Amino acid sequence: MSREGADSDVDADANPDPDLLRDAREAVVEYAPALADLTPARTGNLSVREGERVAVTPTGVPYDSFDAADVPVVSLDGGRLAGRMAPSSEVPMHTGIYKHDRPGAIVHTHSPWATTMATLHRKLPPVHYMIAAVGREVPLADYAPYGTEELAANVVAAMAEADSDAAILANHGLVVTGPDVETAVENTRHVEDLCRLYLRASAVGEPHVLSDEQMATVEERFESYGQQPDADGS
Ligand SMILES: [Zn+2]
Repeated sequence: MSREGADSDVDADANPDPDLLRDAREAVVEYAPALADLTPARTGNLSVREGERVAVTPTGVPYDSFDAADVPVVSLDGGRLAGRMAPSSEVPMHTGIYKHDRPGAIVHTHSPWATTMATLHRKLPPVHYMIAAVGREVPLADYAPYGTEELAANVVAAMAEADSDAAILANHGLVVTGPDVETAVENTRHVEDLCRLYLRASAVGEPHVLSDEQMATVEERFESYGQQPDADGS
């Protein structure tokens, strides 16, 4: 099934409560169209956290077809608090990550190059210094069915063990977190590009991997230029 949760529609009984998490919901409206370039059909989703609540893309609708009052707001326990539309079926993964790490935003895609890595059960090693935007590698999270707490737990465990802000989901796709949604979207593009680079290089030979020492130097330079790979505190 390529489309996660095809059951969404406007819920006439839902309270839109447009003032709740207004900034976060407007950010979802602003950045959701970026998913169209990153993921096939309507398979991606993103969310923005504010305190203990999360604004998340609605399920089953085009990314440019909703406004802030449509955007669902859920609690970290997954309960619906506001919004006319039903939330993404991947809410358990988003809330599971937020409960563990408290990033400001999460982007999930089935972007083709990262998803190719996912089918090969490959993690992304540091083949290029730009990986420092998310960590020293992008780990592989064990497979679990989409929309489950088990998938959330696998993603949290993989990211924590690798100290990374991103994870490749086995036979599924990619998750990237960030201090804000702009950074999370940008870093999703970086990881997708690096997966493409890695796979192209692997088609010709064995890519060389940067050492821990070389990556430490990159991390220092990122910090001195104001780019902070660990700006979300993870
Ligand atoms: Zn997915």
